[in-house]
Amino acid sequence: MSDCLFCKIVAKEIPAEIVYETGRALAFRDTNPQAPTHVLVVPKSHYTDAAALAAADDGLADEVLKTAHEVAVLDGVAEGGYRIVLNTGSGAGQTVFHVHAHVLGGRNLTWPPG
Ligand code: 5GP
Ligand code: ZN
Repeated sequence: MSDCLFCKIVAKEIPAEIVYETGRALAFRDTNPQAPTHVLVVPKSHYTDAAALAAADDGLADEVLKTAHEVAVLDGVAEGGYRIVLNTGSGAGQTVFHVHAHVLGGRNLTWPPG
């Protein structure tokens, strides 16, 4: 999608601090971090939200989830506990409509998130 922010990051048309990459997923730091570790994991191909990614049914959702866990391990927050969040729809706070998993860790995370 030519007008999609995260497609542009995948295409390297917009810079991002990339922390990890697989064949079909890219992980980069959020520019407005809400925790010491705040990384976004996206599929390299465009899906609007988690529902569209789940419907893809080709193992891509699995790759995104595994990449999110790998990011937590690489950033050293896996053992202390971390959170994977997929805001789905504007009512849930989704602002970028290229599905992305937030990986948050490195501080005490309260629940419910509000
Ligand atoms: P959402 O609200 O859609 O779940 O999350 C979008 C996230 O993208 C936000 O946490 C926001 O800080 C992040 N973000 C917005 N623009 C950029 C950008 O240009 N680069 C990066 N790395 N993150 C961005
Ligand atoms: Zn996109």
